[in-house]
Amino acid sequence: MDNNWHTKEIGERIYARCQKLAKFSESSDKLTRVYLSKEHAQCNQQVARWMHEAGMSTWQDAVGNLCARYEGQTSGAPALLLGSHLDTVRNAGKYDGIAGVLTAIEVVGKLQQLDIRLPFAIEVVGFADEEGTRFGSTLLGSRGLTGQWQPQWLQLPDAEKITIAQALETFGLAPEKIAQATRSADDFIGYMEVHIEQGPQLECANLAAGVVSAINGAKRMQMSVTGQAGHAGTVPMNMRQDALVGASEIVLCIEQIAKEQQVVATVGQLQCLPDSVNVIPGQVQFSLDIRSSDDAHRDRVLAQIIERAREIAVHRSLEFSQHCFYQSDATECDSYLQKLLNDACEKIQGRSMTLSSGAGHDAMAIAKLCPVAMLFLRCAKGISHHPSEAVTANDLAIGWQVLYQSVQQFAADYSLHGASASY
Ligand SMILES: [Zn+2]
Repeated sequence: MDNNWHTKEIGERIYARCQKLAKFSESSDKLTRVYLSKEHAQCNQQVARWMHEAGMSTWQDAVGNLCARYEGQTSGAPALLLGSHLDTVRNAGKYDGIAGVLTAIEVVGKLQQLDIRLPFAIEVVGFADEEGTRFGSTLLGSRGLTGQWQPQWLQLPDAEKITIAQALETFGLAPEKIAQATRSADDFIGYMEVHIEQGPQLECANLAAGVVSAINGAKRMQMSVTGQAGHAGTVPMNMRQDALVGASEIVLCIEQIAKEQQVVATVGQLQCLPDSVNVIPGQVQFSLDIRSSDDAHRDRVLAQIIERAREIAVHRSLEFSQHCFYQSDATECDSYLQKLLNDACEKIQGRSMTLSSGAGHDAMAIAKLCPVAMLFLRCAKGISHHPSEAVTANDLAIGWQVLYQSVQQFAADYSLHGASASY
């Protein structure tokens, strides 16, 4: 294994490269790099240079993902896929996604430096669009690679009414060739992604890195409480059907049930009608976002919330209705790949920690092709999708060490047992 000095150098290089990529932005004072933009092309070119230096061949696929390959002991062998995304939200931090791509490149760089070829190839991918910032639909890059791209997405417009099809052409890609980005399940033996946690748990546990057990599934509901609007001065308190007071009780009940049942549930939008200072609210519409690593548990808790909401409404002579407008299922991380990461974490930082991911990631799409795993890195105060997102060079070095060691162990197991015995 590497001595500390070299590991430190690698962490510092990943950190410095994150700063450098932050310059590829549509405005000079904020980091915003969206799908199929000029900055996306510039970023791909820069990262491709680093991939070349690490001994990889590179190409840009039909949806704009930047791909690279480091051959194994025999050329054309199936690959372990490493990577994350290179796009950002508006006014973003410098590490979300990017740190994972750069860490993967350093793993290959070290193999090249030591002249090591593994029993499988390594491919590194910088996904073109994970955040959905420009066209409102997330995971476009990874869904292109896994063949889940929907033809109607080509007509999705951005804020300037430029469609994905038009943007692809401006970028130098052909909309009719999107399907060429699709890779086969036979191409890959697994996918490992390093990503910042975007939450506070690792910092609380005083750990640089932790292993993701599952990416939470989510359901988003629209809920409505209807009562009777009335004059704020003339209707006595005991004769009111105040929709907002009922909705408030439901919101508090959602918080209580979520805490008891260990899911996360958020009411993020609430609209009060008629929204007037001297009128008793007649109707309230609000959203509910509920997430868990266990879909069945999430659905049971949601059913409990709906039942309680109905009881509250009946008690207050209100009407309650709800419907689901978005659903994604949880993605389990592969137990063998998790073990590799956990063992490496224990070796490098003394102990490991398993946590579920509250946010969505490219690994959700890649799980359709092959087993996936994720390593989370501590970020200051759990802040992400914000310019104050911060990761230390030291933690990046630990993340690199964990990934490098896991890849080495995977190779050792693979040599002994082949891919099937590993899982
Ligand atoms: Zn991300």
